[in-house]
Amino acid sequence: MTPPAGVALAPFRDTCKSCRARILWATTREGERMPVNADPASNGNVLLVVQGALLVAAVLTSGQARMSRARRTRLHLAHFATCPNANHHRRRTR
Ligand SMILES: [Zn+2]
Repeated sequence: MTPPAGVALAPFRDTCKSCRARILWATTREGERMPVNADPASNGNVLLVVQGALLVAAVLTSGQARMSRARRTRLHLAHFATCPNANHHRRRTR
C-alpha cells in the first residue's frame, strides 16, 4: 500500500460547507462516508489509502498512530475533530 499522491486525491477533494476548510471525502471500512481534513496533522489518527475508486479511511489506535508517525506516514484528522460547526455534520452524539 502506497500513500496517496496529490493527484490521486483529486476526485475526493471538497470544501466543508460550514467552515470552508479543505477536506477529503473518505469511506470507512464500515462503508460510511467521512470528511477528513485535507492537510495531514501531527496528531492525526486517520490513515488514508486509495483503493480503486475509493479513498479508504482507517482510524488507527493511538499505538498504531504512534508507530505510523515514527515511520513518517502522513496521518490526517477526521474533519469532525476540528470543524467549528461539527454539530452540523453529526446526527449522533457519543
Ligand atoms: Zn467544517
